[in-house]
Amino acid sequence: MKIITIPVLSDNYAYLVIDEATNEAGVVDPSEAGPVADAVKREGVNFTTIINTHHHWDHVGGNKELVQEYPDLRVYGHKRDETRTPCISHMVDEGDTVSIGNLEGRFLFIPCHTSGHVAVHFAAEKVAFTGDTLFVAGCGRLFEGTAADMHNNMLKLSALPEDTRIYPGHEYTIKNLEFALTLEPNNAAVQAKLSWAQETRAKNQPTIPSTVAEEKTINPFIRVDSQELRATIKKQFPSLRLDDVTVLERTRYLKDNF
Ligand SMILES: [Zn+2]
Repeated sequence: MKIITIPVLSDNYAYLVIDEATNEAGVVDPSEAGPVADAVKREGVNFTTIINTHHHWDHVGGNKELVQEYPDLRVYGHKRDETRTPCISHMVDEGDTVSIGNLEGRFLFIPCHTSGHVAVHFAAEKVAFTGDTLFVAGCGRLFEGTAADMHNNMLKLSALPEDTRIYPGHEYTIKNLEFALTLEPNNAAVQAKLSWAQETRAKNQPTIPSTVAEEKTINPFIRVDSQELRATIKKQFPSLRLDDVTVLERTRYLKDNF
């Protein structure tokens, strides 16, 4: 598997996923068609597949134009997004699969940011595309679900093998880590990752992927049982009885206002 990271719009990433054995390729979340079509041509691949993690315009914006240019494209999205995903041809649910040449991805249904959000996990290659649910050191906003839903999603994604590489939908790493430090100022992994991310972005390079193992050390939405994080939340909301879901909910609330 070869993954070409395509920066699109102001801070989105589309990913061109190439099966080098067959030269077949698919794209995850084509926000805009131009940069994706350019990458397809540059790589000289047989472009067959679009995978949409969710229906937001900055993830499906290129669907229509790409299907016009490549009419045989298969377009995958969750079945709940049948009417919200342009040109959808393959409606999927938890456990369904997608093939790009010899590569096989399995869909994980992770509703909350939107009610039809999916991740796609390529187990053999140890890669997961997580859209706007799991970011490096963060999670997406809870637009169409509850804190309990997002907590379930964090459990599901962090249960993937530790060396799974995480490819999210946006470059939010620095802001996420700055926020994480307000909750866990003594977290050395967050401090180190922030320094690295600042150097990386200064060179205009992407900060992705991370790994599941790394997210467990830096991501406050996964680290809801951290004593330091809980103490920070408790200080700000002294009357709250803290369980994992409440901690995630308050963490998200603070992030929304960060
Ligand atoms: Zn979104």
